[in-house]
Amino acid sequence: MLRSGPAPAEELVDAWRERARPAVEQTEGKDFRTQWQALADLGALRMDPPGSEHPGPVTRALAAVEGIGLAGADPGICYALASQLFGMQFPLRATLPEQAWQALAHVQDGRTMLCHALTERTAGSDPLSMDTRARRDGDGYVLDGAKTFITAAPIADLAIVFARTAEGRSPFALSAFLFPVDTPGVSLGETFDKTALPTVPMGELVFDGARLPATALIGEEGSGLAVMSSTTAWERAVVLGYALGPMRRTLQRTAEWAGTREHFGRRMGASHQVAARISDMALALHRSRVQLYAMAARLDAGTPARQLAAEAALTKISVAEDYVRLSEHATALAGVRGFLPGSGLTADLHSPMAAHVYAGHNDLLRVGVARQFGLPVEN
Ligand SMILES: Cc1cc2nc3c(=O)[nH]c(=O)nc-3n(C[C@H](O)[C@H](O)[C@H](O)COP(=O)(O)OP(=O)(O)OC[C@H]3O[C@@H](n4cnc5c(N)ncnc54)[C@H](O)[C@@H]3O)c2cc1C
Repeated sequence: MLRSGPAPAEELVDAWRERARPAVEQTEGKDFRTQWQALADLGALRMDPPGSEHPGPVTRALAAVEGIGLAGADPGICYALASQLFGMQFPLRATLPEQAWQALAHVQDGRTMLCHALTERTAGSDPLSMDTRARRDGDGYVLDGAKTFITAAPIADLAIVFARTAEGRSPFALSAFLFPVDTPGVSLGETFDKTALPTVPMGELVFDGARLPATALIGEEGSGLAVMSSTTAWERAVVLGYALGPMRRTLQRTAEWAGTREHFGRRMGASHQVAARISDMALALHRSRVQLYAMAARLDAGTPARQLAAEAALTKISVAEDYVRLSEHATALAGVRGFLPGSGLTADLHSPMAAHVYAGHNDLLRVGVARQFGLPVEN
């Protein structure tokens, strides 16, 4: 087994790999929610299991996600677990008052699934152009509009939804709400098959005069952009931890293939070019692990996610690009088998490429990085 990264996480990752393996094997090929529940029943969505304090909860959760990936769980399940844990549960716990979080804490048992609904058909990279509106009505709000391309929307029970509560592009024009998707006036719109992470359902939520109580508001009215900064900083910092298991499995099986395949009268791995590709894959995985666990350690040390926004963006760009690079090398070394489902060597290039797009497109994040260095560049 290839090793890299902080030692404490390695033991946890190994323990999770062994713990998750039977559940992964028993539910393989079953529907998404069955696979999800089997892992949640093992505690995969728990944020603070009793009995251990070191390393901190974010590191432990990251190790769980990595171990589950190493156990062979479908990358879509790994992504969905990481997305709910790091993009929703942790930021909600940091944002909601204690009582409101306690009322929601049951999401950790997996029976209530969350989705994060920001994107609209005409508002992707530019959330301040969104059309979904929440208008005040007595004590509560009335919601109209639609959120599209939302991971897990077709199977989620609760949605975090961003909506306009004021006109224009003011940083206080948006608000965030959390409510059940079976609220009257909320319906499931189109669902989407996708080439990246195809096992995780993606869909659209449509709001037609949906009445929300004031308690559905997350934070204050007008604080939607601040809530979004928190959820996206968390996502950028650690959500790509989902890729660590699939990356390591791809590296292992490619190294085994290169070590045994024979041509030109010798084993393929005797070629320096082949060996260099394997080394580059190991470098990509090492860089990704070190950065993701470093972010987890910073969050565990109590650094607010928003203070980590710049480093989280760098981590997200770097891991997404290393995931693509590693998958390209695997595809090149697999030859024709890289394109034959069932060969055991097919490399998924769509899912790594998708990591460039969600949680802020890498091109846009680069603009923010350059701005940190004083360049007068804007999105
Ligand atoms: C697998 C997957 C899961 C997703 N899950 C969710 C989810 O759960 N919830 C959710 O709300 N959304 C989700 N999304 C949607 C995602 O957040 C959006 O796709 C993303 O915000 C980009 O929006 P867009 O696709 O409309 O692209 P656009 O905004 O149309 O941008 C297209 C491209 O234009 C380029 N571009 C645009 N503006 C600039 C600029 N200023 N500088 C440089 N380049 C620029 C970029 O290359 C960009 O990719 C998911 C997407 C994927 C792929």
